[in-house]
Amino acid sequence: MEKTRADRITWLLKPGELTLKGRNRPGFERALCRNLAARLKGTGAELAAGSGRLYVHAPSGADEDTVQNIEAALEKIFGIAGWARTVVAAKTREAVFAALIDAARECVHRGVSTFKIEARRTDKSFPLDSWAMRSEGGAAVLDAVPSLRVDVHHPEALIEVEIRERAYIYAMGQKGRRGLPVGTAGRGLLLLSGGIDSPVAGYLMESRGMGLDAVYFHAWPYTSDEARLKAVKLAEITGSYGIGIRLHTVDFAGIEIRIKENAPESWATILLRMAMMEAAERLARRRNCKCLITGESLSQVASQTIENITCTQSRITSPVMRPLIGMDKESIIRIAESIGTYATSILPYADCCALFSPAHPVLHGDPDEAGGLYESLDLSGLIQTALETAREEKCGFP
Ligand code: ATP
Ligand code: MG
Repeated sequence: MEKTRADRITWLLKPGELTLKGRNRPGFERALCRNLAARLKGTGAELAAGSGRLYVHAPSGADEDTVQNIEAALEKIFGIAGWARTVVAAKTREAVFAALIDAARECVHRGVSTFKIEARRTDKSFPLDSWAMRSEGGAAVLDAVPSLRVDVHHPEALIEVEIRERAYIYAMGQKGRRGLPVGTAGRGLLLLSGGIDSPVAGYLMESRGMGLDAVYFHAWPYTSDEARLKAVKLAEITGSYGIGIRLHTVDFAGIEIRIKENAPESWATILLRMAMMEAAERLARRRNCKCLITGESLSQVASQTIENITCTQSRITSPVMRPLIGMDKESIIRIAESIGTYATSILPYADCCALFSPAHPVLHGDPDEAGGLYESLDLSGLIQTALETAREEKCGFP
């Protein structure tokens, strides 16, 4: 049984989808604990596992900043369905009902007028079953706090009690970010431009448990250092939802110049994308990444028609994940805003693709034609050099 002191705040965490993992569940739980411990480092908080729940204990006498830092970590982590600050009480009827009444008073203090009690009991030796806790607990609350009413269908406040190792009583819990703990689905390489889409794509893959490396192609001196720093910032924010991102910045200026000088203008963007894919695949192999990830969305721009996407990936064999493929821009922007990347993404520094913006880009490229043009450019050596001189930095690590 874990020790609890009355003077420290405790949060109860409900694991999310990983509870469906059967015999593989312990591995997912370990990853969740590892990620949480990394994110809570420096707060002095302690993590404890119980039957079906995790608990975070703030250090005794934690100040408001510490509490906020702990809650920020809980809010960001993938793998939790819900969490709440909880009262830890003795497993007696009196202690539980007193805590329910305190929780109800706190709800009233926060402007609530209707409530419902939800009860769970894993310790069957507790004298009240969950039905009795709901009905008798509800009656005790109504007696003590007459301004409250019960609403079983649409309560403003859900007051929950769980009888486990101890009795846990909490109200108005927060929804977690759900998903799976980052690190449980291997690692992928995100092609991170400075735009709106690719950070969202990376975030969505993290939500499925994938750890990320990222590659940003720039074209120094045709693109500014501000553009590069923007990619760094985006990697920091995106990495902060996972276990950090190792960002590789690769100088593609030489490759872009060769394309510009030797290929039909209308093909330039597709050929550049093909070169990016080839470079990314080589980097992914070196970094043990199992797939590439892009922010492509079907037909959003000329280079993202189904034919051009086919051309883009025609020279590589790695799987390419495109989590935004069926999403419209508005939905993507909504996610970008909610995860905090949008404001950085719309900063107006030209990215490397702006070096060529053909007036009449090929819309429905033929992969054979693309392959012929691509081969005639003989980019392999340039790609190798670009990768050898890549800059690597850690972004958003706990
Ligand atoms: P984004 O908002 O991600 O820039 P976009 O709509 O501008 O998307 P494109 O410029 O066509 O799309 O790029 C499609 C995808 O190719 C991007 O989502 C990203 O994954 C990858 N990509 C484009 N430019 C770069 C770059 N400079 N470095 C790394 N990846 C890139
Ligand atoms: Mg872009």
